[in-house]
Amino acid sequence: MSCPSIPGLLRELRRLHRLASAGEILGWDEQVNLPPDSAAFRGEQMAEFSALLHREATSDAFGALIEDAESMLRSGALNADEVLVVREARRDFDRATKLPSEFVSRKAAAQSRAYHAWTAARAEDNFAAFAPLLKEQVDLAREEAAFHGYHGSAAYDYWIDQFDPGMDAQTIAGLFEPLAVDLPPLVGAIMDSPVKARPDLLRGFDISRQESFLRDVIARLGFDFNRGRLDRSVHPFCSGCGLDTRMTTRFFEDNPLDSLFSGIHETGHGLYEQGLPAEYIGTALGTAAGMAAHESQSRLWENQVGRSRAFWQYWEPFYRQAFPSSLESVSSDDLYLAINDVHPISIRVDSDEVTYNLHIILRFEIEKALFEDRLAVADLPGEWNALSRKYLGLEPSNNSAGCLQDVHWSGGAFGYFPSYCLGNMLAAQLWHAVNTEMPDLQNQFAAGEFSGLLSWLRDRVHSRGRHLNARSLAEEVTGAPLSPGPLMDYLTERYGSLYGIAG
Ligand code: ZN
Repeated sequence: MSCPSIPGLLRELRRLHRLASAGEILGWDEQVNLPPDSAAFRGEQMAEFSALLHREATSDAFGALIEDAESMLRSGALNADEVLVVREARRDFDRATKLPSEFVSRKAAAQSRAYHAWTAARAEDNFAAFAPLLKEQVDLAREEAAFHGYHGSAAYDYWIDQFDPGMDAQTIAGLFEPLAVDLPPLVGAIMDSPVKARPDLLRGFDISRQESFLRDVIARLGFDFNRGRLDRSVHPFCSGCGLDTRMTTRFFEDNPLDSLFSGIHETGHGLYEQGLPAEYIGTALGTAAGMAAHESQSRLWENQVGRSRAFWQYWEPFYRQAFPSSLESVSSDDLYLAINDVHPISIRVDSDEVTYNLHIILRFEIEKALFEDRLAVADLPGEWNALSRKYLGLEPSNNSAGCLQDVHWSGGAFGYFPSYCLGNMLAAQLWHAVNTEMPDLQNQFAAGEFSGLLSWLRDRVHSRGRHLNARSLAEEVTGAPLSPGPLMDYLTERYGSLYGIAG
């Protein structure tokens, strides 16, 4: 990659990124270290910081730099890398400057109210108390989309595009439809199988040993601890950039697989960040290709790699060495089945990799109906429960375990959910492609060797930055358009053979 013609714009983009990443550390610290009574002060610090950042990112001087670069672009003086940097800088600048400041502060205030109302409503199982604030979030989301030229139901496309450039609701509907048809019968067959997973056998795993085992795994997968950290937080996440990557997870004595796989998941995100071109971090060349692409990386390492036989061929002896008494009466088959336990539950974040997709399809259908005015906020719980019956075969015991379970909508994050399932699709497609190209991959895993896969991902995905989006990534790297077929094939094959289901 090279950008000789726009040094001024690059310098400013890097400077803005340094500022933004310093603000992110405040957010990381809030989740990891903050003393409980300091939360209000931290809230003020972060608000101050984002106001500062907004001023810098919308300055006339920055706008002038983008305009200069655009005139060079028009005269044909820029190479493909530079064109991408300029276009993405314009896109971000417009998004930051097209909103009137009155709207920005009104939205921030409404979001803060909605978040607190959601926390209380979920604790008290009181959807009616949250409904007017959720309605306000939908209205604000429409209003913001309209400032950018997206009117009516197209507002949903605006929000999808925020998280996954180039994606829209109609395309997603077409991609999800086959999964909505084919996944429930697969889940049904797994539930009917006489083979039963027993994750409850895994109890009493010492937490400090869990942490050191996870650190061994993460390092072996290729995460660079010299420019990244792993800490503990209530909800696992990965933040920062490849120059300083902050991952977190949590540990439970009686649920060691949650900790382990959350940790591997976040490592997938961290490896992506560390693989982006370091010299272009802060510009589109050093930015991930969108949320679906990001999720494809976390899920590929978590599921396709971390739940595979070959992976456990290598790690099981070390796992038994770390937890000799807890695993004493657990056979290898039982351990592997527990790792690949599938059963429908109401809570998305605790779901297995098969039923997880159905949770996403449910949320996508609800968001789409809200933005198309086919569903009123007041009717959301009924619709949620009906879709839950249809896709998961169960109804949540109450709204706290149903339509109030996720934080996203209280923060106005509509259009984010589909990325998770699109990420699963992309992961399955990449998995198919890499195994075709490297038929020896499983043997490498069994020998504790993961650098072959990482190099392949670095070369095909990470190093490309934002030159790709989820769809073009599928086309360019796997030679086929993004589609649900490979995901369905992968799930049918892995779980079919494990649960003895005739194909
Ligand atoms: Zn993730």
